[in-house]
Amino acid sequence: MDFELSNRQKQIRLAAREFAEGELVPIGKECEAKGEFPRDLIKKAAQLGFIGCFIKKEYGGLGLGLLEHGIILEEFWRAEPGLAQVLAQPAFGSDILLLYGTEEQKKNYLPPIAKGDWVMGFSITEPEAGSDAASVTTTAVRIGEEYVINGNKVMISNGTEAKFILVFCLTHPEETSKSKRHSILLVETDRPGYKADKIHGKMGLHASDTANIFFNNVRVPKENLVGVEGNGFFQLMDFLDRSRVIIAAHAVGLAQGAIEQAVNYVKKRKQFGKTIASFQVTQFKVAEMATLIETARGIMYKAAWYVDRGTPNSSLSAMAKWWASNVAVRVVDEALQLHGGYGYLDDYPIERFYRAAKLLELYEGTKEIQKLLIGRQILGVK
Ligand SMILES: Cc1cc2nc3c(=O)[nH]c(=O)nc-3n(C[C@H](O)[C@H](O)[C@H](O)COP(=O)(O)OP(=O)(O)OC[C@H]3O[C@@H](n4cnc5c(N)ncnc54)[C@H](O)[C@@H]3O)c2cc1C
Repeated sequence: MDFELSNRQKQIRLAAREFAEGELVPIGKECEAKGEFPRDLIKKAAQLGFIGCFIKKEYGGLGLGLLEHGIILEEFWRAEPGLAQVLAQPAFGSDILLLYGTEEQKKNYLPPIAKGDWVMGFSITEPEAGSDAASVTTTAVRIGEEYVINGNKVMISNGTEAKFILVFCLTHPEETSKSKRHSILLVETDRPGYKADKIHGKMGLHASDTANIFFNNVRVPKENLVGVEGNGFFQLMDFLDRSRVIIAAHAVGLAQGAIEQAVNYVKKRKQFGKTIASFQVTQFKVAEMATLIETARGIMYKAAWYVDRGTPNSSLSAMAKWWASNVAVRVVDEALQLHGGYGYLDDYPIERFYRAAKLLELYEGTKEIQKLLIGRQILGVK
């Protein structure tokens, strides 16, 4: 057993940290206030290999593992969650293409993502199907050489910015098993009948794009099927085993950034003639926060390690996602508390971190859904 990162992994962390501190921190507050999607930042990050670094070399990526991808995003989230989210999303769903796409799909769609020229999205959630993804009703009907898609999806990252979107669709409504009814289709967003309405008014992460999207008789060639017809649910579960580890990386980074801000603050701020850091209650708080982060990072790295050696562990991925996001919410709450009333003002970044953190317990399966998965696996119940 070896708990040390390799030299290469350490270099990747350093490079990601340098990029985050040089490029994200200076513009984070302004991007959050304006809610602008910073395309040029994606391009810059891609030039250094930070977008979809796990995409194989033959498709334009660096061919690194999920752990390296996690380390990069951990550093981005440590520095500035709002822009880290923007940089996490361009390749969101590309794992599905890598795992299940045809050679032609991989060659056509992955290189522009790794280059930062295009961004993509993956749409599952619908108004009546959130946690219960197997209830998705957006239909894709095969007519001749095409699929015709109708329905709508909600809260889709990059819905208005994406060049193409992967769509989790109902193709086999007659199947008795709910897990054999769906397929994944790739939809170019310039196809007639595709419409996206940007969502305004999110609690945080304002620079990232989230949209409700609509499919009105959108026609795609049969070659746009990703993987096997009727196998979409299982493909989605494979994807989530990976993507949940990455949400855990977001959470570890956010928590790390929050504790560092709190430590800086309490060392300077004086009350009752002493620094806040000198109170034992502060030392206890910092000790608890640091220990929580250490446990979250450990479980996240272990879950990534399982994926990278080719044996994803669904239960561990769910544990990493649940625990790390829970740690992030707890740590950022305490970090803001240590800033006193100033933490509530936008003079300090901690309020942005606080608003960003909650999402981690919601998307890609809520914390309740992660616990359901873990509990069911342990108990052997369906
Ligand atoms: C900013 C943002 C970006 C997003 N990006 C994407 C995206 O790119 N693609 C995409 O497809 N989706 C995306 N989502 C949607 C997100 O994945 C869903 O919001 C999430 O899966 C939960 O679904 P829901 O909101 O419908 O909640 P619901 O499923 O309605 O859940 C409501 C509450 O009930 C609980 N609950 C539900 N079922 C159970 C159960 N069986 N047992 C116990 N408790 C239960 C939940 O845990 C939750 O607390 C995004 C959401 C946000 C906010």
